Amino acid sequence: DIALGSVAVTEERQKQVLFSDGYNAARIMFYTRKGEADILTKGQSDKVLSTKDECTMHEWTKEAGTWLWMAGFLLLLTAGGIWIVLRRKRNLTAKRSYSETVLQRSGLTGVAGPIISISHLSKSFGSLSVLRDVNVEIHRGEVISIIGPSGTGKSTLLRCLNLLERPTEGNIMVDGENIVTDDYPVNLLRRKMGMVFQSFNLFAHLTVLENITLAPCQLLGESIETAREEGMALLRQVGLAEKADEYPSALSGGQKQRVAIARALAMHPEVILFDEPTSALDPTMVGEVLSVIRQLAKSGLTMLIVTHEMKFAKDVSTRIFFMNDGIIYEDGTPDQIFNHPVHSATKDFINRRQKLVYEIGSNDFDFLQIHTGINRFCLKYDITDKTKLACRLTQEMLLQHLLTCRPLTLRLTHTELSGVTALDFMIENLTESPLSNAARASIRPQVKELIEEPTTRGFRVKLIV
Ligand code: ADP
Ligand code: MG
Repeated sequence: DIALGSVAVTEERQKQVLFSDGYNAARIMFYTRKGEADILTKGQSDKVLSTKDECTMHEWTKEAGTWLWMAGFLLLLTAGGIWIVLRRKRNLTAKRSYSETVLQRSGLTGVAGPIISISHLSKSFGSLSVLRDVNVEIHRGEVISIIGPSGTGKSTLLRCLNLLERPTEGNIMVDGENIVTDDYPVNLLRRKMGMVFQSFNLFAHLTVLENITLAPCQLLGESIETAREEGMALLRQVGLAEKADEYPSALSGGQKQRVAIARALAMHPEVILFDEPTSALDPTMVGEVLSVIRQLAKSGLTMLIVTHEMKFAKDVSTRIFFMNDGIIYEDGTPDQIFNHPVHSATKDFINRRQKLVYEIGSNDFDFLQIHTGINRFCLKYDITDKTKLACRLTQEMLLQHLLTCRPLTLRLTHTELSGVTALDFMIENLTESPLSNAARASIRPQVKELIEEPTTRGFRVKLIV
């Protein structure tokens, strides 16, 4: 800006050439007037020029100005040269380490140590501190599920790992190289680390196969034939070969997500990051996506999966991170985290119950809505074997045994890890059980347990199904 500003004078340029402290420190002052620009050297940076000084200085600095222009050009040329040399060097480093990676994958080198090493990682958005001093090492072949309440920084951690967000502090070493430096080649990182998002992010204007071949052709320099061949193999792997020429709009959510996984795999990544890959899906489609991920987990790929599917996390992972409050609160094997958690926050989180609640005020309630709700709930938490019973019992209770009990709160709860599902009916301002002996006799054989208990607000009838 300094050099160009003094050579090619435009009004815009004049505005851009600022008299900053840096220029003063160099004891050079740039003096511009509307329509022209001159350079005046100044003996002392703190001396204020009067109009008279300006005029006399203007004469003798004309020659000096010419020299300064030339010096400016020379400086630009040298800087340009250095920049080109540095770029070449960086590309060479990038290429070298990528080929090392390929060798490593084929088992030809014995590079030990973690594939990812995170130290003192922090990330803030303005005054909001989202990640606070995260320190962890991830080894090749680990399948890590990241669980934890919403808003605790799980997505931000993944996004920092592949530089979709720049960490505020700390270092992330990938394959022994610090990626949190300005000159680390982001494209190299994207090759090493694929990411699958909650919302698929497929290109709507490209067919399924084109979505998969785009990056290998453009970033890996694969020929279109090779890329298509590999793309078809991947589509077969995720069960979607027959959809190769369809556009994403013709696919279901589950199918779109499977294409997104195939697309990530097409880059031969060493690590895949999944950010809640099934959260945007209809419950009927969760299973097909999870089974593709399960299959990948067995292949030895390193994976980090942010998920709310506890059962899946327990089955598929070699390690669990429980994130809470911007840190990895607890880190251990699935057995440690799910069966013997150390912290109470972990315990509370994994034992939390999913629930479906209906307030029933009169007898004109919408039974069909409740019926549909129960169906979806059972599908979502993979307890479809209980759907029929839950619906039948709800109907019996609401329309027979508790017909006169209004208002009433119906809750269907399910604790994923223990597998306990309960239907409970809470009737306000009641002190004794509303069930008759005949009702008890009809309910008992259908349920695992029938609990009748007074509460502070009324009386509860609870059926464990
Ligand atoms: P999680 O994935 O665990 O639900 P996130 O990592 O998405 O949590 O978000 C953690 C917190 O950071 C949230 O409070 C969220 O609102 C905030 N956050 C995330 N991304 C941004 C952003 N780009 N700008 C501002 N705040 C953000
Ligand atoms: Mg998230």
